Amino acid sequence: MARTSYVVALGSNRRGRHGSPRAEIAAALAAIGGVTAVSPIVTTPPLGPSLRRFANAAAIIESDEAPPALLCRLKAIEQAFGRRRGRRWGARVIDLDIILWSGGAWADARLTVPHRAFRARGFVLGPLLAIAPGWRDPLTGRTVRQLAHRQRAVDRRARDA
Ligand code: ATP
Ligand code: CA
Ligand code: CA
Repeated sequence: MARTSYVVALGSNRRGRHGSPRAEIAAALAAIGGVTAVSPIVTTPPLGPSLRRFANAAAIIESDEAPPALLCRLKAIEQAFGRRRGRRWGARVIDLDIILWSGGAWADARLTVPHRAFRARGFVLGPLLAIAPGWRDPLTGRTVRQLAHRQRAVDRRARDA
């Protein structure tokens, strides 16, 4: 398969064997490899019932893997880092999501790219804006910059309501 790029979002809200959530993100980037750009790591308040703050970042990865192969490898890294299965919103050492792919859209039973929720998530769009502002979402045709600005406006309206 031709060489392709991916945006991967990284999140951690629990210490692991590498140390703090920030250290887990750095270690995960090293494990993934092929990293050509990394955003600043942002700290985000907890989502859902979990009480822990998240560290979040986004990275651009060059890889010749097809999307399912990359997902499989990301899941193996999550497991190796001590992520436990089946706790969607709980504490996790590392969460690795495929957000975008240079090949456009992908959808099968286990994987949807672009990630279904990324347009509503400031903790994904904020870091992504720093490394790929012009990347276009194949579903809406909007750039990351446009999506990030829209999402901020929605957040502000919710906060001021
Ligand atoms: P969310 O997907 O809302 O960010 P989560 O990351 O906590 O939630 P997980 O438990 O990590 O959810 O993943 C649930 C399943 O989502 C995975 O087993 C995977 O098969 C599927 N999935 C679908 N699309 C993607 C994607 N773009 N990136 C990563 N996993 C995906
Ligand atoms: Ca996620
Ligand atoms: Ca995930």
